[in-house]
Amino acid sequence: MSIENNLSEIRKRIADAAEKSGRRAEDITLIAVTKTHPAEAINEAIECGVTDIGENKVQEIMEKYDLVKKGVRWHLIGHLQTNKVKYIIDKVHMIHSVDSQKLMEEIERQAEKHDVDSINILIQVNMSGEETKFGISIDEVDDMLEYAKTLKRVKVCGLMTILAKIDKGMSNRLQFRDINNKFIDISKNKYDNIDMKFLSMGMSGDFELAIEEGSNMVRVGTAIFGDRDYSK
Ligand SMILES: *Cc1c(COP(=O)(O)O)cnc(C)c1O
Repeated sequence: MSIENNLSEIRKRIADAAEKSGRRAEDITLIAVTKTHPAEAINEAIECGVTDIGENKVQEIMEKYDLVKKGVRWHLIGHLQTNKVKYIIDKVHMIHSVDSQKLMEEIERQAEKHDVDSINILIQVNMSGEETKFGISIDEVDDMLEYAKTLKRVKVCGLMTILAKIDKGMSNRLQFRDINNKFIDISKNKYDNIDMKFLSMGMSGDFELAIEEGSNMVRVGTAIFGDRDYSK
């Protein structure tokens, strides 16, 4: 299957899942996850209408940035170390993986240093407890938001989660549902730099389930580009 065919298939599935949850395809942002794939594949996807791409490593963004067509929005979706914020602060449209006040503080500091007026972030929530390393617990979200209010350039736009196990079982559905409930709850609180618009959840194996449970931003790699080869 070609990237073009895969994309049209996925768009159809997104539209169906959106409809199931009373929304439209346009309400769901598709992020094409391009990690391990070369710039040529990314540019092909952009030719097919992809507007948002996701990478999980700072290093890979740096390597591909100049080779990828301009105008596409870059999303950092993987863990971000504070000492690497400076490399991507003026390149990415959104950072999905913010899971500490220390990291938020560094993002604010680097935004100021690099004259970036506003930088979109999502708070990464760990719904699977011990099984996954990154992300804060759902109980800590309120404190993170309180802290964000003290910042000027960091703009909190929503929540992100990665479940420990990709499956379509009830336990995953309930984890998606729990974070969606939190998302809806905190969406009511608007603040200068807090506007909860995006719930980033769902990957190749579970994006339909995630959309049914409220996701409006899905991160899909394998289903678009095929299997990743980490040996290269
Ligand atoms: C790799 C990755 C994805 C995409 O996973 P696929 O199963 O290939 O769709 C989504 N989110 C994050 C954070 C990732 O690192």
